[in-house]
Amino acid sequence: MDVLEKAYTLLEKYPLCDNCLGRQFALLGYGIENRTRGYALKLALTLQCSSAAQDKNSESTQKLKILATNGFSREAQDTLRHLKKRVPKHSATCFLCGGAFANLEPLTQKILRKLAPYEYETFLVGIELPVNIVEREDEFKANFDLSYSESVKHEFGRLIGKTLEAQTGKTVEFRKPDIMVIANPFTEQIKLQVNPLFVAGRYQKLVRDIPQSKWFCSDCHGRGCQKCNGTGKLYPESVEELISQPFLEAAEGEKTSFHASGREDIDARMLGTGRPFVVEISKPKKRRLNLKELEKTINHAAAGKVQISRLRFSNRDVVRKIKKSESAQKEYRVLIEFEKEISEHDLLLLEEKLSGTLIKQQTPLRVVHRRADLVRERYIYKVKVKKVSPKEAEMQVLCQGGLYVKELVSGDEGRTTPSVSELLKNPAKTLKLDVLNIIMEDPVR
Ligand SMILES: [Zn+2]
Ligand SMILES: [Zn+2]
Repeated sequence: MDVLEKAYTLLEKYPLCDNCLGRQFALLGYGIENRTRGYALKLALTLQCSSAAQDKNSESTQKLKILATNGFSREAQDTLRHLKKRVPKHSATCFLCGGAFANLEPLTQKILRKLAPYEYETFLVGIELPVNIVEREDEFKANFDLSYSESVKHEFGRLIGKTLEAQTGKTVEFRKPDIMVIANPFTEQIKLQVNPLFVAGRYQKLVRDIPQSKWFCSDCHGRGCQKCNGTGKLYPESVEELISQPFLEAAEGEKTSFHASGREDIDARMLGTGRPFVVEISKPKKRRLNLKELEKTINHAAAGKVQISRLRFSNRDVVRKIKKSESAQKEYRVLIEFEKEISEHDLLLLEEKLSGTLIKQQTPLRVVHRRADLVRERYIYKVKVKKVSPKEAEMQVLCQGGLYVKELVSGDEGRTTPSVSELLKNPAKTLKLDVLNIIMEDPVR
């Protein structure tokens, strides 16, 4: 195909702006904007016709007139004037874009005003087009058998993206932009999709009787009633609320979600290096949070109850990872009370029989109303036991995550086997439970 000839064929039929003509040849040449491509094609055609027209070639004069009208070419118009030919009035608007490419500035300004309240480093522009515009372009390409073109959507997105980059100093990012701008160049409608901000860390829970997540009142399910003093909650505070609220305020977001790698029982403490979590803040206006300051603020406000550490910016992949790693190795300390007195021999027997053992555990009676009733196997790596009084022992358990430790002690009416009660034929129950450690690789950013 001769590129110039092809370009002229298009112009002969339809008025096309520089962008829309150039876009049909977008895959030819490199590092050239479509607008420049279109301009160059029109210019080259003008030169060709100009040389032929000087030899009194009337076909070339006719071509110059097409370039001056359908091509909107000022150079073709000037050339005609120079040749003392009539300069026809140029066509109204571009057949494909209706002049939208020439009029992107107001749209860009509108986008910038919409973005102004938000802090962001990366963005992406998505384009919505009226159906008739897309259909017209598709039909046009099919009719002229154009195989080097770029889509009109793509060109709008790329151009607006470039302008925004230049004016804001921010970067276009395809995979995980902070903000997605969805713009319609024809209606000038703009939507912003502000992506969430993720902050990861670890928490320790230093007291018992604080649930991990907000626990709605069972009577009113959060609306507030007499039973819950109008709070809608069964417990006044939770790990989730103590940690999330300051993030929500600092980021000026809409709401937060709290993701953690598993959860401890409400009456168990979470000690050691803490449990991995990620706070997800929806629609944040601020992203450059001072994590050091926030950590201090949260730890001060929740002093004696919840402490957080290792804060860092994170992403959705890490949320997935910490959810998956619920079954990372865990270390527990449990204070056991026995019905009958225990001997030193009992302690040795427990250490020997439970260390390196696979425990069969049917879903505990206390949770079976909300979880599937099935038998799971969990491995215990190591057990250490020491006596603290004639009927009390402290047991340290290093096991696969997901083991129900209270049931390992009681046997849960035979649903967990082997168990401490079963092995010693001495009914046992948990007085206190602490998570000492969650052993997992810290998910990278
Ligand atoms: Zn156009
Ligand atoms: Zn209530």
